[in-house]
Amino acid sequence: QKFVYFFAAGDSEGNAGMKNILGGKGANLAEMTSLGIPVPPGFTISTEICAHFYEAGGKLPDWVRPAVQESMNKVESKIGKKFGDVNNPLLVSVRSGARASMPGMMDTILNLGLNDQTVEGLAKSSNNPRFAWDSYRRFIQMYSDVVMGMNSSLLEVTLEDMKEEKHYKLDTEMTVDDLKLLVKKFKDLVHQMTGQSFPADPWEQLWGAISAVFHSWNTPRAITYRELHSIPAAWGTAVNVQSMVFGNMGDDSATGVAFTRNPSTGEKAFYGEFLINAQGEDVVAGIRTPQPITKIAAAAAGVMSLEEALPQAYGQLVEIYKKLEGHYRDMQDIEFTIERGVLWMLQTRNGKRTAAAALKIACDMIDEKLITQDEAILRLDPSSLDQLLHPTLDPKAAKTTLAKGLPASPGGVNGQIVFTSEEAVEWREQGKKVILVRIETSPEDIAGMVAAQGILTTRGGMTSHAAVVARGMGKCCVAGCGDIEVDYRNETMKVKGYVLKKGDVITLDGSTGEVYLGEVKTIEPKLDGNFERIMKIADGIRRLKVRTNADTPKDAQTARNFGAEGIGLCRTEHMFFGADRIDAVREMIIADNKMDREKALAKLLPMQREDFYQLFKIMDGLPVTIRLLDPPLHEFVPHTDEETKELAKRLNTDYERLRSKVKSLHEFNPMLGHRGCRLAITYPEIYQMQVRAIAEAAAQLMAEGKTLAPEIMIPLVATDKELDTLRGQAVAEVNKVQSEKNVKFEYTVGTMIELPRAAITADAIAEHADFFSFGTNDLTQTTLGLSRDDSGRFLGTYVSHGILPKDPFMSIDQVGVGSLVKMGVDLGRRTKPDLKVGVCGEHGGDPESIEFFHKVGLDYVSCSPFRVPIARLAAARAAL
Ligand code: PEP
Ligand code: MG
Repeated sequence: QKFVYFFAAGDSEGNAGMKNILGGKGANLAEMTSLGIPVPPGFTISTEICAHFYEAGGKLPDWVRPAVQESMNKVESKIGKKFGDVNNPLLVSVRSGARASMPGMMDTILNLGLNDQTVEGLAKSSNNPRFAWDSYRRFIQMYSDVVMGMNSSLLEVTLEDMKEEKHYKLDTEMTVDDLKLLVKKFKDLVHQMTGQSFPADPWEQLWGAISAVFHSWNTPRAITYRELHSIPAAWGTAVNVQSMVFGNMGDDSATGVAFTRNPSTGEKAFYGEFLINAQGEDVVAGIRTPQPITKIAAAAAGVMSLEEALPQAYGQLVEIYKKLEGHYRDMQDIEFTIERGVLWMLQTRNGKRTAAAALKIACDMIDEKLITQDEAILRLDPSSLDQLLHPTLDPKAAKTTLAKGLPASPGGVNGQIVFTSEEAVEWREQGKKVILVRIETSPEDIAGMVAAQGILTTRGGMTSHAAVVARGMGKCCVAGCGDIEVDYRNETMKVKGYVLKKGDVITLDGSTGEVYLGEVKTIEPKLDGNFERIMKIADGIRRLKVRTNADTPKDAQTARNFGAEGIGLCRTEHMFFGADRIDAVREMIIADNKMDREKALAKLLPMQREDFYQLFKIMDGLPVTIRLLDPPLHEFVPHTDEETKELAKRLNTDYERLRSKVKSLHEFNPMLGHRGCRLAITYPEIYQMQVRAIAEAAAQLMAEGKTLAPEIMIPLVATDKELDTLRGQAVAEVNKVQSEKNVKFEYTVGTMIELPRAAITADAIAEHADFFSFGTNDLTQTTLGLSRDDSGRFLGTYVSHGILPKDPFMSIDQVGVGSLVKMGVDLGRRTKPDLKVGVCGEHGGDPESIEFFHKVGLDYVSCSPFRVPIARLAAARAAL
């Protein structure tokens, strides 16, 4: 069986279709060689070996070695250099590359193959001793850190000390003798700290590096990233061993990264950054701030472009990027190196982009006839639309500018500054909003970046770690803000004479790069033409309707603006908390007899009627499902003696009597207690009032010349008898109102399916229901026997241990709860073939769950207003 794949111009064993075994990087390197694009020769050790590596207890199995050696021979003969040769040595890079890209999460080693002898050979063959020794010291730094587990800052400090001693500002000022001395110091320090001498044998170096890369698949930061992006641990990483080309051979050499279109805005313009006389990692690590590639962009920044510095290589790069974009039919993120004027491509992949850029690129590519509408929809990630719906800074708000950095990832956010990821996580857990401020971020900061509202770095470019990762997360980020001086030790940042301490508030504008003092007001986002266009395309494809969960006119309006096709759930209990009526609700609850209860309900009736009237009016003929009262009554009464006393005064009743009433409502397990339709079985007058309010509001609108057909929904039904009884009462009340007002309007009475028994007996329940709406929140709670209010504390452990794939309250448990949904749909439709069926639990806005609901044949999903666009796109994707 094959597990090492060679690649070189016109002689590759892999291709872009082999990502599963070659990883993204390896597959695309092979593909590029077939396209005639210059790629340094190398080979890929397949992802399958990653599993063998872990099975063998974190060791590279011996049987892998011969194939690696054989491929190395092939590289040697392609290049005409030998690995370990003292006269003209072949050096290699060793890089990770998983099926899905995980930028910066795993390890890389460059310049491998150097030792005290080969470095002299490299000095001679390159005719550049300084370059050779600089490469050697870089190699020791990287290798000792990544493979030998040494703290890299120790070597960094030694380097800085030497520069200070010699009064140098830049690394490039160091002479050959300086570098020789530095290498010696490095090796001594490595020996001292690790107890091992730095390996001189290139093959020993190679085996160490390959193992380290496989190892880096399971570092905490890689695991965090995988969890965040749902990448299975079983995929493993491949290892790419590739002959080195050097961007640090002098001023005719360079290295850079670029996007074939702007990854922030989607604009169709080549976009990238480079550094003259530098090695690849310098750009990505944000150690030096790179320069723009194109003339226009560089001119704006007042620096030299690649176009001007190395015009020939630039011309070739332009040709290649166009070829790559045309071939992959998607925006590419590329890495390149120019060695003494000769261009080499080191990577291409589909570029990460903001949601706004994704929409623009999709629309542009449809117009360019590069992709079809269906393809455009399949490429867009529904959850990413969330970014577009995020707030931006209010342009009219007063602002004090502190500094301006790079607009790395859009959005406007404010929060308290913290300087470490640990603190970002801690403060977030305490409910604070924080901005993570770092000189630069590294993959170790990933948890802090997740916890923060936004990220501010003082070093690094648009392709630095902070920028790339933040953009992927849809998180606001300002990068490379050089005017700000961060002092980690004293936990302060200094800028323009201000000294800000940990905990002080700042505001970031990730769309302009501006940093402001204090809190700047934010405003709700406006959506552009690309968004509307994609939504229209999605609407043309999807079969599922998308409604919203809304119980205020404001939410209903927002949802309509986002394209909601009705209200799938109006939780009437939310209306009971209004200051103008909560006391009337309480009066109703503590009433001793039916008469007193009806007196209180009579006070509520006009208010409820007005609530429904407003909602019906905004929804303007679209379906509106009103759910009758659901929660246990104790939720509405005061819980402290103090409040109870005050309420007793307001209601003009005896405190002791009130207190014992409140106490008597106590339940040990209220979620399984006296709630939902059970309330109406004991107190029919509550639903009677609500149904009357609905009917009177409808009658009023009919009288105003509107048409509508309210949907009355009864919650927490477990048996068909419950629904039979309550439906009868509801129908009687509506009929009464219709004859009182002398108007007729259509209406339906349906039920929520949110208890397992209801799903199992859905055929009987459907006898009395015009529609079903799955309440998957309660259905999840009752199917798993898992409290929706308390399980947060331990569900995280379940997910991180792989016992549950995801939080079942966020994404539906398809095998368990999902089976009940499917059963409910099938049984319901056995009784009534055209029974209307939807879902209104939180899962109605989750793309994966939506795909499931499409499959089991639901008619609609209903979700919170801001998730309506997400649901529209997800429903379209489900239909393709
Ligand atoms: C549900 O249970 O899924 C539901 C929509 O109702 P609620 O969340 O109000 O219990
Ligand atoms: Mg419920």
